[in-house]
Amino acid sequence: MKRTRVRFAPSPTGPLHMGGVRTALYNYLYAKQHNGDFILRIEDTDSHRFVPGAEKYIIDSLRWCGIGIDEGVDEQGNMVSVKSEKYPHAPYRQSERRAIYRQYAEQLVAAGWAYYAFDSAESLDKERAAAEARGETFIYNWSTRERLCNSLTLSEEECAIRLKESTGWTVRFKMPQDRVVKMDDLIRGHIEVNSSTLDDKVLWKRADELPTYHLANIVDDHLMEITEVIRGEEWLPSLPLHYLLYEAFGWERPRFAHLSLLLKPVGNGKLSKRDGDKLGFPVFPMKWTSPEGETSHGYREDGYFPEAFINMLALLGWNPGTEQELFSLEELVKAFSIEKVIKSGAKFNPEKAKWFNKEYLRMKSDEELAALWMPELKEKGVDASPQKVLEIVGLIKERATFVSDFWNIAWYLFEAPVEYAPKDVAKFWKPENTEPALQACRECSTGEELEEWIRGRELPMGKIMNCIRLVLSGSGSGLGICEIIKYIGHEEVLKRWENALAVLGR
Ligand code: GLU
Repeated sequence: MKRTRVRFAPSPTGPLHMGGVRTALYNYLYAKQHNGDFILRIEDTDSHRFVPGAEKYIIDSLRWCGIGIDEGVDEQGNMVSVKSEKYPHAPYRQSERRAIYRQYAEQLVAAGWAYYAFDSAESLDKERAAAEARGETFIYNWSTRERLCNSLTLSEEECAIRLKESTGWTVRFKMPQDRVVKMDDLIRGHIEVNSSTLDDKVLWKRADELPTYHLANIVDDHLMEITEVIRGEEWLPSLPLHYLLYEAFGWERPRFAHLSLLLKPVGNGKLSKRDGDKLGFPVFPMKWTSPEGETSHGYREDGYFPEAFINMLALLGWNPGTEQELFSLEELVKAFSIEKVIKSGAKFNPEKAKWFNKEYLRMKSDEELAALWMPELKEKGVDASPQKVLEIVGLIKERATFVSDFWNIAWYLFEAPVEYAPKDVAKFWKPENTEPALQACRECSTGEELEEWIRGRELPMGKIMNCIRLVLSGSGSGLGICEIIKYIGHEEVLKRWENALAVLGR
């Protein structure tokens, strides 16, 4: 049996969208499940859409997610340009493979599957305008090619001259007329399309001596021995052409799987950066700064754990068929199945993304979380022993979704409040509460003793405790009194009383 080889083939036209990360993830899971290879290929033949920094962003994002790349990128995270035993198919960046493609375009011309087209951009614009005036759409195919300027209509001599002297020509695929292209998709099943509605796509351009996406993609999938092509559904309309290209070359076809789109949380349509901006969630794995200096936030900087992000993405469009929701990457590799990927679009739910993070945060060790929190504490100039931080993390982690929530939950274990929530002051700061509360705090040095003291006098426990919490934390809700006193100590309790009395009066 052939070794399984799949590829993720992004174009470096901007930051990788989370939908793109999901495509990469499904490819990776498929590869690992079949003990195969996951290849990264950069499809950068469209120089107009090239964005500096995008390639590095893609590689860094995959690395952050833990999606290991077997071929395409070296240990340092650079695209591999030189062939070796480990990287037999290098280079993996299409712009560095430009010399490969021309011969394949010529091969198709020689076999009658393609032809040279000499039409100028202006003449095609005119065709388009004329068709529009008639209420039609211009399409370069069997219905028009015989009256246009190409090697099917010009004499051999005329063609030879133009091929030599002009640099404006292209190679176009000769899309057959009235052929029913029969295709199979691992997710969508059997599909049939009549070729008459399809156009003669440009495959290669003399102007920049570069292939278009379609030619480069098929040639490279063949040369790189790709066995399954798993990609976004926006490429489904290109599938008939790709099928015919394999037929034209006489090559064995990989199997195809087209993934449905990620949809907006509300309403219809593709999940976009605008949805993220509007509803306050990232659509990119990491922060991105465009060459113009515009920035977009990412899951990484927003405090998501890569494991949580990946787990959430895996379940957006794939259903394991059980109740299980939490999967490590290894578990995903075992459980994933391309046949169980859903055909319809998957609605993204930002709240669910947070839920995943909360679950992963709970599963982390206190040590790991303390280490992640430490830089923030240092920056704030907090002077706390590692042991204390560790204990506090253990105390608060159940209440947090992100490590960045820790400070909001527990800041008053490190510093005294200087303000008191007016709503809680109105509710709890009454002499009938404050007098016994103060006396209790003077006499007791632990929370447990306090409770005993209040209970022994049959005083209203809730009101008095909330009054004490107001003094210690500045608000009537939050961590348990016993915990607060344990971390700040009795002396600090009395200091906080002094301040509260000075600010709020008796
Ligand atoms: N370069 C294409 C993209 O940007 C790849 C499509 C494919 O996987 O065939 O999505």
